[in-house]
Amino acid sequence: MSHEIEADFKDNWETEATQCLNCTSFENHEGVGYCSEAKGDVPFTAHCDFFQSKE
Ligand code: SF4
Repeated sequence: MSHEIEADFKDNWETEATQCLNCTSFENHEGVGYCSEAKGDVPFTAHCDFFQSKE
């Protein structure tokens, strides 16, 4: 599926602390990354401007 997010989405983000995996919008759907902001699947290692840290 396409990423309809318009927030400078990057598939491979080098800084682990700010990858989707650590974002409040990220959900792990049985091993598949899902973004509640983009309402679609995202790689664990992606990133966009809507990033908000879980920490
Ligand atoms: S809002 Fe952006 S950084 Fe956060 S999970 Fe979605 S795509 Fe990743």
